[in-house]
Amino acid sequence: MNSDDLAFDRDHIWHPYTSMSDPLPCYPIVGAQGVYLRLADGRRLIDGMSSWWAAIHGYNHPRLNQALQTQMAQMSHVMFGGITHPSAVALCRRLVAMTPAPLECVFLADSGSVAVEVAMKMALQYWQARGERRQRFLTLRRGYHGDTFSAMSVCDPDNSMHSLWQGYLPTHLFAPAPQCRFDDEWDEADIAEFAALIAQHEGTIAAVILEPIVQGAGGMRFYHPRYLQRVRELCDRHRVLLIADEIATGFGRTGKLFACDHAGITPDILCLGKALTGGTMTLSATLTTREVATTISNGAAGCFMHGPTFMGNPLACAVADASLALLQEGHWAQQVVAIAQQLRETLLPLAAHPQVKEVRVLGAIGVIESHQPVNMAAIQRFFVDRGVWIRPFGRLIYLMPPYVIDAAGLAQLSEAIGAALDRTELFLPA
Ligand SMILES: *Cc1c(COP(=O)(O)O)cnc(C)c1O
Repeated sequence: MNSDDLAFDRDHIWHPYTSMSDPLPCYPIVGAQGVYLRLADGRRLIDGMSSWWAAIHGYNHPRLNQALQTQMAQMSHVMFGGITHPSAVALCRRLVAMTPAPLECVFLADSGSVAVEVAMKMALQYWQARGERRQRFLTLRRGYHGDTFSAMSVCDPDNSMHSLWQGYLPTHLFAPAPQCRFDDEWDEADIAEFAALIAQHEGTIAAVILEPIVQGAGGMRFYHPRYLQRVRELCDRHRVLLIADEIATGFGRTGKLFACDHAGITPDILCLGKALTGGTMTLSATLTTREVATTISNGAAGCFMHGPTFMGNPLACAVADASLALLQEGHWAQQVVAIAQQLRETLLPLAAHPQVKEVRVLGAIGVIESHQPVNMAAIQRFFVDRGVWIRPFGRLIYLMPPYVIDAAGLAQLSEAIGAALDRTELFLPA
């Protein structure tokens, strides 16, 4: 890529959450291998982000590549209406086997946001079919569920600027974000407002939707498993469906295969995405129970009213199946334990740094919350110059590396964060 390409990119191509009139610089990446991203100028960066939770096995993995090549030689795509294919069946078999028993019906979609749309639509159709008018969702502040409109309607109202969409976005119910941290002693008061809301609006709530244990893009917050247990109990007591959005937390990231496992609960509807294909292609899945699926299917529509063009794309299914097979070999568990231990050793001491408000580690996720927001362009350049790819947002500098990272690579990531905290010019006024 030459400077002409970069200029074209700047002038014509939108990147996630960016301005077209005053874009921040983008770094040209021309290859990726293992835990390394290769810049166009030949430098290598250690990846601390797993391309947003996704590339858990590292890049250019031979088994994932092989799965894609084998599938490509057969067919890259075929419609899913009236047609099925071996890779979809293999993948869904594995998904049903890996998730708790009541979840046995799988809907494949293209992205996390669509998986959330599908989950919310399932809940609405379920109650419709039962002859109950329930159209509200109850969720948590500081949540994140995607960028499409229904998903956005259950994201944190401030972070996702609900004020911009007033009159257009459906208004749902928001309980305060959980305050009791993952390792804290459980405080029953933490669930009080949630309990009051679900009781008060019983009979009108279709489902609770939340990110179990880890609130990701809304603040990288880790909350107490007991909170999730209470939510499950309250959903049962008030006859409300529970949607767990494990798009970020699924497939081992928090130290359990699914974050719900920390609380030993099973949702009625489960959303998966991000790491599903090991970070190679876009694919998501929404799983539900036989009861929900049957009820929907017996309703007025006679079917579930959703069917994306590229549903069950064979390439994506084949590579997802290979990624899950790698997970089932089990190395991820020790890898995540080792990452967690090293993150605790290297990041927790940074809590004493004057720039740092809090340090949090859970599984293969390490978070530094600073007092001042980062200067994005400056800190990004600083990290790239130190050979690491770390992309903070706001006051959050965080790591979620590929599970295959070694101790030296992880040390380099942590050291880069430590060094950045010493540079006041990398932060904006609070
Ligand atoms: C990323 C994310 C989504 C949205 O997924 P996309 O693939 O970006 O549409 C939804 N929920 C959670 C918890 C996420 O982290």
